[in-house]
Amino acid sequence: MCGVFGASNIPNAAQQVYMGLYALQHRGQESAGIITVDDDNVAHAHRSMGLVSDIFSTEILDSMPGSVGIGHTRYSTAGSSIISNAQPCAVDYHVGPLALAHNGNLTNAAELKRDLVSKGSIFQTSSDSEVLVHLIARSEARKPEDQILDALERVEGAYTLVLTIGKTLYGIVDSRGFRPLVLGKLNDGYVLASETCALDIVGATPVRELQPGEWIRIDGNEVQELPPLPPKPHRRCIFELIYFSRPDSKVFGKSVDRFRRSLGRRLAQEHPAPGADCVFSVPDSSNAMALGYSEHSGIKLEHGLIRNHYVGRTFISPGQSSRTEKARIKFNPVREVVDGKSVVVVDDSLVRGTTARSLVKMIRDAGAKEIHFRSSSPPITGPCYYGIDTPTYGELIASTHTVEQIHQHLGVDSLGYLSLEGLRGAVERDGTGYCDACFSGAYPTAVPGAEPDAPSIDIPIPATIR
Ligand code: AMP
Repeated sequence: MCGVFGASNIPNAAQQVYMGLYALQHRGQESAGIITVDDDNVAHAHRSMGLVSDIFSTEILDSMPGSVGIGHTRYSTAGSSIISNAQPCAVDYHVGPLALAHNGNLTNAAELKRDLVSKGSIFQTSSDSEVLVHLIARSEARKPEDQILDALERVEGAYTLVLTIGKTLYGIVDSRGFRPLVLGKLNDGYVLASETCALDIVGATPVRELQPGEWIRIDGNEVQELPPLPPKPHRRCIFELIYFSRPDSKVFGKSVDRFRRSLGRRLAQEHPAPGADCVFSVPDSSNAMALGYSEHSGIKLEHGLIRNHYVGRTFISPGQSSRTEKARIKFNPVREVVDGKSVVVVDDSLVRGTTARSLVKMIRDAGAKEIHFRSSSPPITGPCYYGIDTPTYGELIASTHTVEQIHQHLGVDSLGYLSLEGLRGAVERDGTGYCDACFSGAYPTAVPGAEPDAPSIDIPIPATIR
C-alpha cells in the first residue's frame, strides 16, 4: 500500500508535498520520496528509506525548487523494500521530465516486464510501477497523453497515479477505482492526495474525489477532465475503509470513522457478549469499531490496551518471530481495566492471527476472567493482489483454519467475526461497487500466477544495481 500526493501551482511545492506525505505516513513506512519540477522544467528528486520526518530536512526541501511536485510513501507489496524501488520514479522524457507515483498493484506486471525485457528494456527497479514508465516510453503514439493512454490500456489491476510531465500534473484512477484519490484547492493552485487528511494538513479545501476511470490534467491552476478510461464495474477496496485509511479521512464518499462505527454496531448485533464488563479496541485501527460495539451493546467502553506509538506497524517487521515480538512491544494491557473482568476485545481484522494470539495471552496474564474476541471484518481467506499487504494463502489463518480452530488457537472464551453479509450490508446502499475478494474470493481480475500461492512478481535484478 502507498500514499500519493501532488501539487500544482503551489509556491515551494516541496514543503506542501512534505506535509501531505506526513499525513499519509500510515499508508507506507518503508520509504518516501518527493520530486519537484522548477520553472526551467528541471526535476529535483529526493528519495530514501525510512519515515518522512527522517528523510527530509529543511535544507533538502529548500534545495528542491518548483511550484509543481509529487510525493509517495511506500509500503512494498510488489517489489522488494529497497531504495531503488522508492518512488516517485522519474525519467527524462522527450517533452521534459516524467515523474510518477503509484498506489496499487498491477496484476499483469510480471508478464509485461518479461515482454519488455525481451524487447530490450532495462529495468532499474523490481517494482511493478516501472513497467508503466517503460510502456509510456515505448508507445508509438505521438502525444504524451496518448502514450499514457496506450500504457494504461495494457496494464491490469490497481493503479491510482499522480504523474507529472514537465510542469503538468495528472491524477489518474483505474477503471475499477480500487484506490482513492481526492482533488483539493489550495490558494491559487491544486493538490491531489490519497486521503482527505492530507488536504487538511496543508489547509486545502476538498473539491471532489476522482471517480473510477477518471483522469485529470492540471496546468497551473486550470483543471481539465480528460476522456475517461474504458468503463469497468467499480471495485472500491473495502479494506481501505476497514483498516487502511485514517478515520479522520473521507474515502469513497464516506467518513471512515462513521463507517467503522457502523461495523462495530453490526458486530455487536451479530456477536453479542452478554454479561461482559467492558469492551475495548486493539488501538488505533479499531477504536471506532469498539465505540460502535459499545454504543449498540451498552457495554462500557474502556481503554484496556495501550499502544506504544513509537513502534511501526506490526506488519512491517520482516519474519514471523519478530512480528510476534513486536506485538508484545507494541501493546500492553491496563491491569486495572482487565483484572478479574470479562472483556470484549475488538480488532478490525485477523490476518495471520499472531497479534490476536499474543494479545490474548497478555490480557489473560493481566488477570482477565473471560476474553471475547471480535473481528470487525469477516475471515480473510485470500491474498490481496491490488495493493494491500496480505500474505499468501498459507499464512492467512482463516485460509488454513476453521473459525472453531481459530477460536482454539487464540485461546479465547468466544470468537466472533462480522459476517460477509453484514459487511456488504454496511455499504450496499451507497451505489458503489466494492472489492471484498480477500473475504469472498470474488477477484475482479485474473490474479497473477495460476497457483494459489502465486510467486512474487519480483524479477531479480543484479545486486550491483540494488
Ligand atoms: P495478524 O497478527 O497477522 O493477524 O495481523 C492483524 C493485525 O494487523 C490487526 O490488528 C490489524 O489491525 C493489522 N492489519 C490488518 N491488515 C493489515 C495490513 N495489510 N498491514 C498491516 N497491518 C494490518
